[in-house]
Amino acid sequence: MMAKAAMIDYAPGVTAIDAQFAGRTGQVASHLLVDAGEAALVDVGSNHSVPHILRALDDKGIARSAVRYVCVTHVHLDHAGGAGELMRHLPQATLVVHPRSARHMIDPSALYAGARSIFGDEVMARDYGEPVPVPEERVRIVDEGDRLELGGRSLLFLDTPGHANHHYSMVDETTNRIFAGDTFGVSYRSLATDQGDFIFPSTSPVHFDPDAAHRSVDRLRDLRPEAIYVAHFGEVTDIPRLAGEMHRGLDAHVDVALRHADAGHGQADAIAADLLQWFIRRLREHGAGLRDAEVEDRLALDIQVNTQGLVVWLQRRQRQ
Ligand SMILES: [Zn+2]
Repeated sequence: MMAKAAMIDYAPGVTAIDAQFAGRTGQVASHLLVDAGEAALVDVGSNHSVPHILRALDDKGIARSAVRYVCVTHVHLDHAGGAGELMRHLPQATLVVHPRSARHMIDPSALYAGARSIFGDEVMARDYGEPVPVPEERVRIVDEGDRLELGGRSLLFLDTPGHANHHYSMVDETTNRIFAGDTFGVSYRSLATDQGDFIFPSTSPVHFDPDAAHRSVDRLRDLRPEAIYVAHFGEVTDIPRLAGEMHRGLDAHVDVALRHADAGHGQADAIAADLLQWFIRRLREHGAGLRDAEVEDRLALDIQVNTQGLVVWLQRRQRQ
């Protein structure tokens, strides 16, 4: 018998399923939204996440044919890598994508090659697996302002660039809750303290755009949502405070990058070192009670990816 899936139930019809990304818990959530017998999944992790998501549906008694939509907020592989494999198991599902994402889901080879050039073959095989193409007729493009219905709920799609230029957020207008992917940052449950949730921006390669990221944070905040669901990881409330933290985090990341804009060879190491110091200081202010080495250990991958995104942003900026 298989163990039960790891899940957190939030508001009526909203559940975070732990996608067990790269074999780790608490890193990537696949959010499940259910209304009147119909279901949608928002972000799905990698190929290796698919069994966990299917088991969660089974544990909740949701038939695979009840899943109408698989929504990928953007086509980074920790969100969309498993979509093709998952769609094979969900006969009635339509894949819902940003206009810039569709071709990468129909033919994921460029996406996979791009990620391999960043992470290397070993990590790609171990943590991702090769994405499965999605038949074109099962892909639906949603543009800014488009709506879909799920059960009795109205779902509104907003173009929210910044983390990526192929990123939408999905607003459950019926309950005013937003599924934001990475637009509203990263908020691991394990870093919450009695001061509340800890949040920070994800500046991943290759399209990070700080100006757009600031605007998208404000856009979501200004909807005054009851809650935002972030892919890393789960529900956050207290949105005005967290929006402020996101702006400060974005500014801090940009400051670090600009400080080392002309650093040449050692640029990435210098940026990563400064980001680590920023995280250590912020987590101390937040009362996280972590030793420096623990901060470094827990956030190593985030710092690495944020550094890579800032380096690419500096290169793009210098070309302009
Ligand atoms: Zn992500």
